[in-house]
Amino acid sequence: MNADSSNSFDSWRDLPAAQQPEYPDAAELRAVTEELAGYPPLVFAGECDQLGDRIADVAQGRAFLLQGGDCAEAFDQVGADQIRAKLKTLLQMSAVLTYAAAVPVVKVGRIAGQYSKPRSKPTETRDGVTLPSYRGDSVNGPEFTEEARVPDPRRLLRMYHSSVATLNLVRGFTTGGYADLHQVHSWNQDFVRSSAAGQRYEALAREIDNALNFMRACGAQPAEFESVEFYASHEALLLDYEAALTRTDSRSGRLYDVSGHMVWIGERTRQLDGAHIEFASRIRNPIGVKLGPTTTPEEALALIDRLDPERIPGRLTFITRMGADRIRDRLPTLVEKVTASGATVAWVCDPMHGNTFEAASGHKTRRFDDVLDEVKGFFEVHKELGTHPGGIHVELTGDDVTECVGGGDEIFVDDLHQRYETACDPRLNRSQSLDLAFLVAEMYRS
Ligand code: PEP
Ligand code: MN
Repeated sequence: MNADSSNSFDSWRDLPAAQQPEYPDAAELRAVTEELAGYPPLVFAGECDQLGDRIADVAQGRAFLLQGGDCAEAFDQVGADQIRAKLKTLLQMSAVLTYAAAVPVVKVGRIAGQYSKPRSKPTETRDGVTLPSYRGDSVNGPEFTEEARVPDPRRLLRMYHSSVATLNLVRGFTTGGYADLHQVHSWNQDFVRSSAAGQRYEALAREIDNALNFMRACGAQPAEFESVEFYASHEALLLDYEAALTRTDSRSGRLYDVSGHMVWIGERTRQLDGAHIEFASRIRNPIGVKLGPTTTPEEALALIDRLDPERIPGRLTFITRMGADRIRDRLPTLVEKVTASGATVAWVCDPMHGNTFEAASGHKTRRFDDVLDEVKGFFEVHKELGTHPGGIHVELTGDDVTECVGGGDEIFVDDLHQRYETACDPRLNRSQSLDLAFLVAEMYRS
């Protein structure tokens, strides 16, 4: 693959790009993007195509997408323990969904590149002091100091290297035996004694074991059980970074953003005449677009025309994030009109971003019950319309944080301060994530 030099790809540069950092030194940014353009790809075009095929199964009702990970990855969290814990949580959720809902699960992490955050306000004020908002480790530092909040383009290099290190470990875990289905118990070992969700999972793992033993006794040893297909995704927010990692695939001559298998465009940057949609229209990766409660059917249809003019199933995923109180009201028309247009998109539910509120303690949080209720509404709407509820997109971590309230091992508002560690939005902890997987499996089956 070569760095793309054709002018047509630069079309996004002439359009307004929301949520971009204002770098103090343009020459420094240029030097950084030139360096990035010379670095090897993180993923290959063929892998992106393969994920596109898997998402086509999701769009056509034959598979379920599980997309999850941090709201924002952080440079100081790129360690083996943290990465393994996230992966383990996703693998456990996937085992629950595959076994209990009997559906193939397409596993995609919000991982190895999820370092950039759109913000609702450009500045933050504390005790009368106003500074630029934290925009993710790829842009500036979270510390509330003037120095930390200045956007530094050299952070893009660190984003690349952190993504490489993360993806390397993820690839090692998923192909090197750790993700072997025979390990369903070992993913749970540290967890089973301490949590109700862990115990429920253990019972399911025993059933999986029995099924595997039965198959082995019959002489079946499918290679699919020994490794797992796992894909990396992030929000394509910083276009200087994404463009520097966009290359022409030598097989097809087409452009791929090789910073991740799938990228999505967020609710705040999906303007039809903006740079992000233009950029996404030029690359061949599977694309997600977040759709909030104000999305009109006309906008959704225009997004399809821009991003999926050839109507290729698997190309486009609509990730709806309406809020528990609005999903039953807002989603039906969108799904109806898109379906009537003949387009085949994957419909995925993000039950996190429409359900955030500030607790009295000042912590940004989400209620597990609201998260669950939005997923329920999503399933109800699709059932009613005869369309496929294609998946969930969640913010989670493998650690026992206290960021969202509720769940089986209930976290109360007064507990939030105990382990509130997120760099941005509140995440489900491991036990809440497993609870969710069990409940989603039940909804999928019924
Ligand atoms: C996110 O996924 O972290 C995010 C900011 O989402 P949205 O674009 O839906 O607000
Ligand atoms: Mn978020």
